[in-house]
Amino acid sequence: MSLIELENVAKSWGNTTALQAVNLRIEPGSFCVLLGPSGCGKSTTLRMIAGLDTPSSGTVRIDGRDVTHLPPAERGIAMVFQNYALFPHLTVADNIQFGLQVRKLPKAECMQRLQQTAELLGLTALLDRKPGQLSGGQQQRVALGRALVARAKVCLMDEPLSNLDAQLRQEMRAELRELQQRLGLTVVYVTHDQAEAMSMADQVVLLHQGHVEQCARPRDIYAQP
Ligand code: ADP
Ligand code: ADP
Repeated sequence: MSLIELENVAKSWGNTTALQAVNLRIEPGSFCVLLGPSGCGKSTTLRMIAGLDTPSSGTVRIDGRDVTHLPPAERGIAMVFQNYALFPHLTVADNIQFGLQVRKLPKAECMQRLQQTAELLGLTALLDRKPGQLSGGQQQRVALGRALVARAKVCLMDEPLSNLDAQLRQEMRAELRELQQRLGLTVVYVTHDQAEAMSMADQVVLLHQGHVEQCARPRDIYAQP
């Protein structure tokens, strides 16, 4: 069974149609990249999965459950954004733990998860710093840590590497992919960068003017006549 399923998902605002009738299935443990030029509907598709927006029509399912009208917090998903969305006045540790504290998890459990996550991402020595004292790549890891610490099955990422320079972006691609495979995460990843999509994806979803133009493994994506 697919972990994420969009069935005829459409979205309009007044005269603007962002999505026409998107049908999409994403398998558990896979790395799915939504690819296409600016304005083709990538972010809107991601927001539909996240629950940050409601479709005008159609159905969103996660793990077989109709979540179309559920808020983000009830969908078992985590999100990583382009601008990291870190709190500048909080330490790395508190930034990572933020969601756990909000959910009122026991302190010992929070601490254990924090340490595990920090170790996984090589952040153990940086836990007392503030985001402003970190490099771009380190900040990106903290944002990832915040998603991972919640143990969500699904991680949604909107251009998470686009603020990094080319060299670091290359490194983080490999790192992210390795982590995704090791943890068996299901990732839905938005980018307009074709090379990035081809190097990372199990499944590339090519969007064009609000509909899915192609959906294939990277090596098959341009193979059609
Ligand atoms: P992408 O992520 O591929 O750049 P988006 O999903 O952000 O594309 O946007 C798709 C289309 O929907 C664009 O034409 C955009 O201007 C429009 N759009 C997105 N969000 C809104 C909104 N809140 N209100 C009106 N139009 C929107
Ligand atoms: P992205 O860079 O991911 O495509 P944008 O910067 O286009 O996102 O959009 C950021 C926010 O503005 C989103 O919440 C999106 O829904 C909204 N938005 C995008 N386009 C429009 C638009 N034409 N009118 C109103 N809101 C929009």
